[in-house]
Formats: sequence, structure tokens, C-alpha cells
Amino acid sequence: MRGVRRAAAVAGVLVLALAGCTPGADPAPSPGRSPGLATPDPAPAADPTPDPTPGPAAAPAADPAAVLAPDAAWADHGAVAADAYALGYAGTVGPITPELAARMSSSWRAGCPVPLADLRYVTVTHRGFDGGTATGELVVHADVADSVVAVFGELFALGYPVRSMRLVDDFGGDDDASMAADNTSAFNCRPISRGTGWSEHAYGRALDLNPVENPYVRGSLVLPPEGVPYASRPDAPGVVLAGDAVVRAFAAHGWRWGGDWSSPVDYQHFSTTGR
Ligand SMILES: [Zn+2]
Repeated sequence: MRGVRRAAAVAGVLVLALAGCTPGADPAPSPGRSPGLATPDPAPAADPTPDPTPGPAAAPAADPAAVLAPDAAWADHGAVAADAYALGYAGTVGPITPELAARMSSSWRAGCPVPLADLRYVTVTHRGFDGGTATGELVVHADVADSVVAVFGELFALGYPVRSMRLVDDFGGDDDASMAADNTSAFNCRPISRGTGWSEHAYGRALDLNPVENPYVRGSLVLPPEGVPYASRPDAPGVVLAGDAVVRAFAAHGWRWGGDWSSPVDYQHFSTTGR
């Protein structure tokens, strides 16, 4: 049971820290979208071609001291994680630099529930759908940054593909646009849908994974609309299924899956609070 101690400790802290969040309304549905019109082509609409928008390579370098060395970071994570480094995985955790803060102008503003000082910039190696590797980036809460590096190490070792992993600011902070591009992202200071309070993403403690292959489903509503062919949960690359190795990798590090909800069912959503 790799990572159990660590996961339990993380979960315990987060439960205390996150009381009062409103459950079950992520991501915010777009009122302008028509629900659930099936498209004939099961292929994802997202374009895997790299976008010219500055990505991790152009972002401020993470503090080298924060780079997680295998011996230090993976000592209690077992063979799968160690394999990740042997296979070329790398994960870094760095602060939100002034340059990065400027880039985050659409995802963070004064009044957000978590100050920039409590957020971290994380980069991880991930597989692509083309079989290659790439470096993705996420902003998450400091409390969960190491666990994100651990989870994606496991996903790398598993060969699980990620379409795109860029800050939601590259999409103007627009969750619908990020989802439509099949972009994996975490932090976004936004409210829950049709209610008061913040989304778990506003705390940096929720992450949306391959949202086209893993859409948000509430009745006939499927978001993003590009995810309609995946609402039936075909066994296809990137599709997360109940109890599979992806769900188990997240769970081993304290992350719970929105695919286990009853309604809505949020197949892309993982959080450390279960909300
Ligand atoms: Zn989410």
C-alpha cells in the first residue's frame, strides 16, 4: 500500500483546512451551451498540435532546490514511482514568482481565498497521445504540490497520456475554453456554479484531467461538448474508469475522483477533499 501514510497525513490536513466548501458543482456549466448533442466523430476535437502560447519552457524556472530528487521524494512511494524516474520523469515545485503572478492575471485576483504565497508552480513530465513526452505545468496549493508530483510520476510510469497541461490563464481563465482544448489544469479562482462559495479549484486543491475524454455529466448536459462521445465511458486512451490504475494512483496520494459522484458525475475532477 504505497504512500498510505503520506496520503493519510495529507488528507487529514486538508479536511481541516477545507471545511465549508460547497460540494458538487464543478465545473461551472456554461448556460449558453446546448446540452448533449452527440457528434458523429468519436475522435476528440482538441488539437494536439502545440500552441504557440508560452508554456512551461517560457515560464520562470522553478527553484532548483525544490526539484524532487528520487531518493528524497520517492522513498515511500514504492516501485512504480521509482520506475518513473528511471523512465525519464521529472517533477518540480516552485514559488509563484512575480513574472508568473503577472501571467496569472485571469486566474487570480485580490479577494481570492488563497494568497499567491500559498500556491505553487508545478511542472511534470507526461506522456502524450502520440506516444511522446512533454512537460506540463500546473498551479496548485502548496499543501498538495508534492502529491501532484507523485501522482503524475505514477501516471508517467503507467504510460497514461495527457493531451495538454497548461495554466488556465493561457485560455483567458475561461474554464470552458480550457476544457474544449482538452487541457488538464488545476488552480482557477472561480465560484461554484449557481451558488455561493468557491470551487475547490479556487483553493488549488482540485485538478481536471483530460476533460474531453473525461467530461462533466449532469443529466443530458455534457461539458465540454467535445466530450459527448466519451460520456458513455468507452475504454479508450485517456479515459479514466472506476477503480483503474489512474484512480488508484490519485487515491494513493490522497486524491478522490469526481467519477464516483452520483450527480453530477465529474469524470475529469480529482480533489483532495472529495468535493
Ligand atoms: Zn474540476
